[in-house]
Amino acid sequence: MTPTWVQLAYLACAVCFILALKGLSGPKTARNGNLLGAVAAVVAVTIPFFYLELDHVALILAAILVGTVGGVVGARKVQMTQMPQMVALFNGVGGGAAALVALLELGEIVGHGEDVGWFVLLATAFTIAVGSVSFAGSIVTFAKLQDLMTSAPVVFKGLPIVFGIGLLATILLTGITIGEPVLWAGVVLALVGLVVGVLLVLPVGGADVPIVISLLNAFTGLTVAAGGYVLDNTLLLVAGTLVGASGTFLTLLMANAMGRSVANILFGALKGGSTLGGGEASDRPVKSAGPNDVAITLGYADRVIIVPGYGLAVAQAQHALRELVDVLGERGIQVDYAIHPVAGRMPGHMNVLLAEAQVPYEQLKEMAEINGDFKDADVVLVVGANDVVNPAAKTTPGAPIYGMPILNVDEAKQVIFMKRSMRPGFAGIENELLFDEKTTLLFGDAKDTMSKLLNAVKAL
Ligand code: NDP
Repeated sequence: MTPTWVQLAYLACAVCFILALKGLSGPKTARNGNLLGAVAAVVAVTIPFFYLELDHVALILAAILVGTVGGVVGARKVQMTQMPQMVALFNGVGGGAAALVALLELGEIVGHGEDVGWFVLLATAFTIAVGSVSFAGSIVTFAKLQDLMTSAPVVFKGLPIVFGIGLLATILLTGITIGEPVLWAGVVLALVGLVVGVLLVLPVGGADVPIVISLLNAFTGLTVAAGGYVLDNTLLLVAGTLVGASGTFLTLLMANAMGRSVANILFGALKGGSTLGGGEASDRPVKSAGPNDVAITLGYADRVIIVPGYGLAVAQAQHALRELVDVLGERGIQVDYAIHPVAGRMPGHMNVLLAEAQVPYEQLKEMAEINGDFKDADVVLVVGANDVVNPAAKTTPGAPIYGMPILNVDEAKQVIFMKRSMRPGFAGIENELLFDEKTTLLFGDAKDTMSKLLNAVKAL
C-alpha cells in the first residue's frame, strides 16, 4: 500500500504538471511553466528513494547522473533550429525506457509465477511494443533531421507487406503474453516493435518529420501511462496521459496548419505522393535591389508587415530585425510580425525566437488575426520564409503544400524577400511570388543583410 504522504505528494506533482502545460501554452508564462514541470519531475523521481526498499541504488543513481549530464549538456549546446531532433531524442529514450521497465516487470511476473490478471499483461505487452516503436521511430527521425541519412521519403518494394507482417506479429505476441506470459515473447515483441518503428518513419519526408515526432511523443505518453498502470504508479499514469493527450492535439494541430491528414503524412509516400520535392534553384529573372533601395521603400511606408521564417532562425537575425522594427516604429510606421503556425521547423519556433530578441508580444500577430491586413500593407518584408507565403498552396493542386493555409502576402502592395539564393523552401517547390512584378529580392545571409538594412534605414 502506498503511504498517504506519497499519494499526496504525487497528487501535488500531477497538479504541477497540469499547471506546467497551461503555462507552456503562452509565451509570457512558458518559462515558469517549464520550471514548474521540471521541479515536479525531480520531486517525483526523488520520492521512491524515501518509501521503497530499492535494490541497486548505486546503479540507479549512476543512471540518473548519466541522464542528467547528457540532458544538461545536450540542452545547452543545441541550436534553436535543432530543437525538433532534440525533442525526438528525448522522446525516443522515454519510450525505450518505458519498454525496458515493462520487459523487466514481465520478467518478474514470469519469475514469480504471479497471477496479475489479463489487463496488466495487456498493458505490459502494449508498453513493450509501443515503447519500442517510439524509440526506433524517434531515432530514425533524429537521423533524418540531423542529416545522418537522407531526409527524403525512403520506400522499398514490399515495405507495406513487411509492415503488415510486423503489425500481425505484434498482435500475436501480445496474445501469447496475455495467455501464458513468457519472457521470450516479450523480447521478440520488443524487437518487432523496433522494426515497425523504423518502417513507420522511413517513408516520411523531411518536411513532415516534426509532425511524426509529435505523433511518436503521443505514443510515448500512452506507453508511460500503460507502464504506470503496470507498476501501480498513479503519477506515471497521469503524466503519461497528459503527454499522450497533448502530443495527439499537437499532431492534429500541425497537420491542420499544413492542410494535410495524419494518414497522408505517414503513408502518402507509399502511394507515390512524396512529401518532399527535390528543390532546384530557379534561373528565371527576378528584380533585386541593395539594402539602400530597400531602406527607402521601408522608410517611407505607412504600414509594414514582417514575415519571419526558417531562414531568420538559421541566420540568427532576430536581434537585428527587432532593432529595425524599433527604428521604423520611431519613424511613425506601423509594423507587425505575421506568424504562420508552421513557420520554421516546429510550432512556436518564431514566437520563441522573437521573444528571445525582446519583441513585444503585442506585435506578434497570428495568421488568422493578420491575414485580412495584408491588402492594406504598403510593404511586406519576408525574412527567410518561403513555403508559408507560397500562393501555390492556393492555386496549384498537386503541389506538396496545396491546401496549407498561407499568409496572404501576395495581396500586399510591395513585397521584399530576404534570402540567399533562388533555392526553394523546405517543400522544394518554386514560389511564383518571387517573380511577381511587385516583388524585390534582397539577396544575402539574413543576419548580414539585416544589419546593412538597419544602418541604411538609420541613415535616412
Ligand atoms: P522555408 O523552409 O519554406 O523557407 C526558408 C527560406 O529561408 C528559404 O527560402 C531559404 O532560401 C531561406 N534561408 C535559409 N537560410 C537563410 C539565411 N541564412 N539567410 C537568409 N535566408 C535564408 O521556411 P518557412 O518558414 O517559410 O516554412 C516552413 C516549412 O517547414 C514549411 O514547409 C512547413 O510546412 C515546414 N514545417 C514546419 C513545421 C513546424 O511545425 N513549424 C513542422 C514541419 C515542417 P535560401 O536558401 O535561398 O537562402
